[in-house]
Amino acid sequence: MRLQVLGTAAGGGVPQWNCACPGCSGARAHPGRRRRHASLAVQTDDGCHVVNATPDIADQIEACAWLRPGPGPRQSPLKGVILTDAELDHTIGLLRLREADTLEVRATPAVRQALGPFADLLRPYLQLSWADADTIPVSGKRPRYAADAPESASSAGWVSALRLTDGAATVIYAPAMGVWPDELDAACAAADCVIIEGTFWDDDEPRRTGISAKTATQMGHLPITATMERLSRLPGRCLYTHLNNTNPLVDPAAEQHKVLAELGVEVAADGMVIDL
Ligand SMILES: [Zn+2]
Repeated sequence: MRLQVLGTAAGGGVPQWNCACPGCSGARAHPGRRRRHASLAVQTDDGCHVVNATPDIADQIEACAWLRPGPGPRQSPLKGVILTDAELDHTIGLLRLREADTLEVRATPAVRQALGPFADLLRPYLQLSWADADTIPVSGKRPRYAADAPESASSAGWVSALRLTDGAATVIYAPAMGVWPDELDAACAAADCVIIEGTFWDDDEPRRTGISAKTATQMGHLPITATMERLSRLPGRCLYTHLNNTNPLVDPAAEQHKVLAELGVEVAADGMVIDL
């Protein structure tokens, strides 16, 4: 299995278009600090997929050599998209893929149901097919636009950790998670690589920086300080992704990078290639 990290930012990206916080301003002044929306390209025996369809998806495909089209004039190696949830930052890129002839979307029943309006919009352009993904539920948080969706047996599938496998290689990818269930513990212990959410450094960060009246946990995001010790004990390679622009880690000089380095945990970077 080959992975390429296509983006490592939470919703809005770094910089976010309407934000002049220190993290976003720093990324404007230093283009090397820019982070696109969190996404992952995956190449396996089963073909090439992108995990989550972000607002940056067209640029992200161009940035990944093995996702570029060819040799035919309209021949793309991209077989489909695998979704961890139905949040707009992870799904709006589906509309950007409307030039495709066919597209497979792997998602839970809850996510598929929420994306009904997307499917309606795309139907006149391309043939969408749906399939299940190999997932572990990690939050019941719904997107705001689906707040009124009826409760159903599929409600457990609103936010998932994905298990990606190819032969003996296994990767766990969870860019957002509100809880760490025992099932995820077992899956991470058996994985060669674990890439999970690093939206916020600590629980109070959203309140301290003034972006929310809620803590990170109340917003449905386990902060890094709540998961880093656990990651340090895992046998596989562990990386954080989905950094919010308030996260001190968006500054390469931040002390927090040393804390993670001492634990042997990495921060994913846009463009990073991981071969397993
Ligand atoms: Zn900002």
